[in-house]
Amino acid sequence: MTQQNSPDTVKFLSPQFTQMGASATMAMTQMARDLRASGRDVISLSMGQSNFDTPAHICEAAAKAMAQGKTRYTAVDGIPELKAAISAKFKRDNNLDYKPSEINVSPGGKAVLFNALAVTVGAGDEVIIPSPCWVSYPDMVRLCGGRPVIVPCSPQQGFKITPSQLSDAITPATKWLMLNSPSNPTGAVYSADELRALASVLRNHPHVLVLCDDIYEHLVFDGAQFSTMAQIAPDLKPRVLTMNGVSKGYAMTGWRIGYAGGPEWLIKAMAKYMGQTTSNPSSISQWASLAALDGPQDFIKDWRADYQSRRDYVMGRIAQIDGLSCDVPPGAFYVFVDCKAHLKNKTDTQLALDILQDTGVASVAGSAFHMEGFLRLSYGVAQSELEAAFDRLEAYFN
Ligand code: PLP
Repeated sequence: MTQQNSPDTVKFLSPQFTQMGASATMAMTQMARDLRASGRDVISLSMGQSNFDTPAHICEAAAKAMAQGKTRYTAVDGIPELKAAISAKFKRDNNLDYKPSEINVSPGGKAVLFNALAVTVGAGDEVIIPSPCWVSYPDMVRLCGGRPVIVPCSPQQGFKITPSQLSDAITPATKWLMLNSPSNPTGAVYSADELRALASVLRNHPHVLVLCDDIYEHLVFDGAQFSTMAQIAPDLKPRVLTMNGVSKGYAMTGWRIGYAGGPEWLIKAMAKYMGQTTSNPSSISQWASLAALDGPQDFIKDWRADYQSRRDYVMGRIAQIDGLSCDVPPGAFYVFVDCKAHLKNKTDTQLALDILQDTGVASVAGSAFHMEGFLRLSYGVAQSELEAAFDRLEAYFN
């Protein structure tokens, strides 16, 4: 049960905390769990994680690390072995050169992002966030005392920020541009040409740092090529933080390992911050992540093919439902479905709740991602669950 804050206890909470919103994805997932606990048959399409299990060789590496007593504090921002593997991964997958001194390992991708913002963003600083955006970005910025500048990017522009929107959004107070490709929640993917066009704008504004959240890197479909800013615009690399992690690509959300490559001054600052807050990420998870990045990579393409076929299935089902529409998302494992025709006098949050109550299918409202009138459905679930969920959704809407 959630404990309500009485006016007496609220006074203990900090101003930064009280203006923070709760993670809507987690809230919906919790509601789905509660319903399930009460005996309802719930299908959760609200979670941002894969239905695959962490591959056996990764789990074995973790067991071996434990057996070998690798269970103590490690270097605050990652063991040298893992940093070397990350360095090799950046070279292999992205043709990027990051020395170990330019690499940070944190307890999850979320922590990488927060640590980077915490050491750079202060009162009055602005962070440009194209929306729809991942739920946590704006609140992280607010927690650091900064101001999120949310730039709406319509479905007609593929949910991606255009060079002119970027140019208009930059002010002398801009500290970061946050780019997420493939995107949660829309699955949008920036092409190399689109990144090049954004880079031309950024060249005129040397005070702006760029945070590339590449956590869905391996989930790009239809043979498309993944690109990231530091690779496309090497001259900007000194002010880019290339963030990634093992959560999505290796089905390791529970292990809590994220990482980033960036300029040494920033990596050092992030390590200093971790030294006074979290200390190192789990030693065992670091050894497991080393096995993930250094071990066989071929299962990733099989998983990708599997996701792509589920995405195509979902698109086919959406086409059969009156008043729902969505362009084919080129990446990640989400569809961001326009449901405005079904809103009438209600919000998308109310619609998501009604759907959950009526059908037992959990989704997340677009407003959680700063774009009203949509539902985000994750297809990171088994095909049989997807089929059952869409049978129920079709019955509900039609
Ligand atoms: N960035 C995006 C866009 C995400 O969707 C997520 C997780 O949902 C993260 C970062 C954080 O990943 P992690 O689980 O490694 O903290």
